[in-house]
Amino acid sequence: MGPFEKKRKKKRDSHDAIMLENVTKSYSKGVPALDGVSITVKKGEFVFIVGDSGSGKSTLIRLLMRELTPTSGRVVVQGMDVGRLKHRQVPRFRRNIGIVFQDFRLLSDRNVYENVAFAQRIVQTPAKEIRKNVTNALTVVGLAGKYKAKTNQLSGGEQQRVAVARALVNNPPILLADEPTGNLDPKNSWDIMQLLKRINEEMGTTIIVVTHNREIVNAMQKRVITIKKGVVISDEEKGGYIDED
Ligand code: ADP
Ligand code: MG
Repeated sequence: MGPFEKKRKKKRDSHDAIMLENVTKSYSKGVPALDGVSITVKKGEFVFIVGDSGSGKSTLIRLLMRELTPTSGRVVVQGMDVGRLKHRQVPRFRRNIGIVFQDFRLLSDRNVYENVAFAQRIVQTPAKEIRKNVTNALTVVGLAGKYKAKTNQLSGGEQQRVAVARALVNNPPILLADEPTGNLDPKNSWDIMQLLKRINEEMGTTIIVVTHNREIVNAMQKRVITIKKGVVISDEEKGGYIDED
């Protein structure tokens, strides 16, 4: 590593995990989905994003994973200005981010192992390392014993744990989850949230969770950012779900 790279690396490492600076996102003319949003998330934080349906939560997640670019303002993830990335830089950028969705998005005709290994094949990890990393990720989520099962034979909770393993397997510094418990019963919802909490505490992963689960948000005593109609209306350490009705 040359001196320039060293300096650049140091600079990058000193950044916050996520910084949104006055971000507006409009899909078309009219009311923007996000309007002047500024949020900073430090490395290793665990943050809930809450708000009514249509308030702009998924738009925020899609900006962070660079599925979208902001109409104005800056989105900076791990020191990289997401809006300025060239198309060819996006795949490498994505290695910084693991993502979990409400609907699991697993390959239903493949087994558990293959679903997790897939994320590693895409980034061209050597075969020997793939085996080690997949086994590790499945161990973290408690599914090492089910690696051969077809995902369509698993319960919803198990499927979401496979999705978490897949999100973790490249060891990303940031994990995003967009309503990860939306399709789960209360018991499995708790298990998934506890799993995310443990990953945050033990691996130091920065975690952003969009959720409607008010009971869990209130119990976990983490930072809570509330978005309403595209605007951040509250941001509290050890916050709770804001009751408006
Ligand atoms: P949330 O995840 O909080 O329910 P979204 O970010 O999905 O909210 O949506 C915010 C607003 O942007 C909504 O009014 C929604 O209809 C609109 N929207 C979301 N995605 C698109 C899209 N692809 N094209 C046009 N409008 C969209
Ligand atoms: Mg959404």
